[in-house]
Amino acid sequence: MSTGSDDNCIFCKIIKGAIPSFKLVETEFTYSFLDIGPLAKGHSLVIPKYHGEKLHDIPDEYLADTMHVSKKIVKALGVTDYNILQNNGAIAHQEVKHVHFHVIPKPNAEEGLT
Ligand code: 5GP
Ligand code: ZN
Repeated sequence: MSTGSDDNCIFCKIIKGAIPSFKLVETEFTYSFLDIGPLAKGHSLVIPKYHGEKLHDIPDEYLADTMHVSKKIVKALGVTDYNILQNNGAIAHQEVKHVHFHVIPKPNAEEGLT
């Protein structure tokens, strides 16, 4: 199910499979995949299956599920330290105008990962 899909949106195209992605977890409300330009190994994006540009545009049931999926990804990655980031608007550095949560692992430097 994808609600309010926008034919010109790259993330709506990813949800539909029209643009390939490395899929992680998918649910009724949420799609998640690896970021094409990772800031760290395992950098993932979690998006609602609802096209909306900013957080306040997204219905609560979709937002709640994106958090459930983000937790699953963090546990699957096995990291203890990480950032969850979500940008709203150009001034706040949002590039893709479909709400997305970045899950960015911060691995222990002793593991040799950056
Ligand atoms: P923003 O700056 O909007 O918060 O972040 C957008 C993110 O989407 C960036 O980290 C960028 O690497 C990622 N991204 C943009 N286009 C694609 C794509 O086609 N596939 C994937 N997997 N990630 C993308
Ligand atoms: Zn979209």
